[in-house]
Amino acid sequence: MKSHNTIIVGGGASGMLAAIELDDKKSLLVEKNSQLGRKILITGGGRCNITNKAPIKEFIRNYNGNGNYYRGAFNQFFNDDIIKLLEDNGCMTKIEKKKQVFPTTDNAKDVNDTLITLVKKSNTKYELNCNIVDITKEDNYFILKTATNKVFKAENVVLATGSDVYKNTGSTGDGEKFATKLGHTKPDDIVGLAPVAIKEDWISQLQGIAVDVKIEIKADKKSLIKDENASIMFTHNGLTGHIILDSSMQINEMLKKDKKVTIHLDFVGNLNYEQLDIKLQNDFSQYKKQGLKRYLHTYMPRNMVEVFLKHLDIESDTILNQVTKKQRNKLKDALKNTILTVDYVVKKQAMVKDSGISHDEIDPNTFESKIIENLYITGELVEGSGKCGGFNLQKAFSTGVVAARSIKRKDDIN
Ligand SMILES: Cc1cc2nc3c(=O)[nH]c(=O)nc-3n(C[C@H](O)[C@H](O)[C@H](O)COP(=O)(O)OP(=O)(O)OC[C@H]3O[C@@H](n4cnc5c(N)ncnc54)[C@H](O)[C@@H]3O)c2cc1C
Repeated sequence: MKSHNTIIVGGGASGMLAAIELDDKKSLLVEKNSQLGRKILITGGGRCNITNKAPIKEFIRNYNGNGNYYRGAFNQFFNDDIIKLLEDNGCMTKIEKKKQVFPTTDNAKDVNDTLITLVKKSNTKYELNCNIVDITKEDNYFILKTATNKVFKAENVVLATGSDVYKNTGSTGDGEKFATKLGHTKPDDIVGLAPVAIKEDWISQLQGIAVDVKIEIKADKKSLIKDENASIMFTHNGLTGHIILDSSMQINEMLKKDKKVTIHLDFVGNLNYEQLDIKLQNDFSQYKKQGLKRYLHTYMPRNMVEVFLKHLDIESDTILNQVTKKQRNKLKDALKNTILTVDYVVKKQAMVKDSGISHDEIDPNTFESKIIENLYITGELVEGSGKCGGFNLQKAFSTGVVAARSIKRKDDIN
């Protein structure tokens, strides 16, 4: 049996960066799919939000309270490093709103292809269609078995298998199984970045419509999010959008505590109730003959108006001078505060796993297991997910690089 220095299990964002950084002909990257980086291809809606240009202090605030754990990793390999690596190899990037970084081509494939090229150029070998099904440690070596009964032997193993969300990308929770079998604690099952289902069924007719609003999310009377400008999108049974995805873990916590979670949409964030009331009165008398349906386009997308009016029980062909005071007040209240009640968080559609192998069991300076010597755990398999904005990929890149550097340092010493 041929012995390897290091075997990296999983050719996603984290495993590829570990392989590139390791650059070692005695090491091997194994990937169960027939291609590397399948999940990268679907990131950022196919555009790949690579990282975020926020400075480190702000950056680490985007890990739901876990950011400080990654500070050491980011100090070693951060946003500028991944941008430079990609740009030096032909994949140019651009910065969009909220400091999100994308490839200039808006095509995730260009990011993935660049990383694949770098893996191929590196000395680290790689093998596709190689599904590891078991890992044991005997004496000082790891023994890895594949689904086709092949056996590998290695001094170090990097578990970069991701989590078990979006299983069709190959991330099926194997790393968690291997780590727990080797002695790590089994993590809880907490997902992040998930849409929510809404109880009010009138919104199902708005599926696919995106709208800019000022939003408040409340659990009973307490505000979880207040007065944030956000772009949300209606789904077949609820809501999605960065602010919803980012709040989904908090919302889930509140629902578990039997709190009533409500989402308040303000379509006219630039005016208060009184100002809107005056504006409606003035507009309704100035544009008497205009249809209400057309008028409401000012406040919301065209294809939303009819459903909105039907929900308020107002005829959509009403003209402005026919609107009664009662209807005007109803409109004003709904424009300023449409209340939607969260039914549940749609965990099946979560984009990341927040739970993973516990921080207590992994050294944040090396990403080596504190339980099993020479076992490294990286990427989404490490607990503590990031918010939308490029934070999860950066975690995967940085932890992969740090694990590889730790292995190289150890080898230099020995
Ligand atoms: C729809 C969607 C959109 C996203 N968009 C963004 C975004 O724009 N920006 C961002 O920062 N984050 C985004 N994320 C999150 C981000 O993609 C992940 O956090 C990141 O890819 C995790 O990288 P990883 O290398 O740890 O795991 P993965 O990318 O999941 O890679 C793990 C690899 O291991 C392989 N593997 C698993 N088990 C085995 C085994 N037993 N043997 C061999 N190989 C194995 C898998 O096939 C897979 O290729 C998104 C996630 C989703 C689902």
